[in-house]
Amino acid sequence: MSRSLRNAVLLLLGLGLALTLGSCATRRGGEAEGWRAGLFCGGDEGAREAARLNADGLTGVTVNVFGRPEQGWALYAPQIAETIETRCAPQTPAFAAALARWSARHGLPASGVVDSASLTALKITWQARRPFVTLRGQGICPDPPPDSVLAATGPGEDLGKSVRLRQRALWAYRRMVADARRDGVIPPDQPQLLALFSGYRDPAADAARCAAQANCLGLVRAACSAHRTGLALDLNLGSLPGLTVDNSADANRLFQTQTPAYRWLVRNAARYGFVNYVFEPWHWEWTGEAP
Ligand SMILES: [Zn+2]
Repeated sequence: MSRSLRNAVLLLLGLGLALTLGSCATRRGGEAEGWRAGLFCGGDEGAREAARLNADGLTGVTVNVFGRPEQGWALYAPQIAETIETRCAPQTPAFAAALARWSARHGLPASGVVDSASLTALKITWQARRPFVTLRGQGICPDPPPDSVLAATGPGEDLGKSVRLRQRALWAYRRMVADARRDGVIPPDQPQLLALFSGYRDPAADAARCAAQANCLGLVRAACSAHRTGLALDLNLGSLPGLTVDNSADANRLFQTQTPAYRWLVRNAARYGFVNYVFEPWHWEWTGEAP
């Protein structure tokens, strides 16, 4: 075999391998939810340097994404990876390169390092997906829906207390959970994973509870909660021992964002019309109807 022919054969074999791996990486459903690393997650020297900084920053830098200082950005890594379109682990050069490309497209310095500038831009991107937040930005608090469009959870769909959502949001939720179960992220020994623990909340009841408990979550609950729309839902992702499923301690949220169920939601929920309030891994909103 001539050298040029042999090189051509090797090139074709390499292309075939790359295409096979590439199609695996984009396949939906049934795949492992872990990070990729190794062969296809490398990069040039610039990306490798950014990757070293990202590896340190994952747990080592103080960030403030949602108005509260936090140690590291590891709990945002799944959403960051989805947004910048990589499956590679956050400490890999390919992750840094993907972030650099995303930053360049958004008019930011393309350093590939997760820093306050990139985190701020990512947060704006995430929040812009939430029609409720857009309305709030216009000073509008949507009216609650009429009772007639609300429907209640059935057996096994909540954590023991009935939850109401707009009917079509509940249907979308059911389709999503059925597919999550099919994909193996709700193991038989954790049947309550992704069950609902909150949905529609009557604004008057929210305001009364806020006053009674002197706990208004920064007045959000009392003033205008997304839960008044019947489109917001809180999903059980489990919790650290001793903490509730909606405890916003950094360690609890980090635990939740590392679960296969959350990883699956990050990669798939948009197909069913759901978007995440990224600060709260459990809080999702259905976008199939206007708030
Ligand atoms: Zn919520």
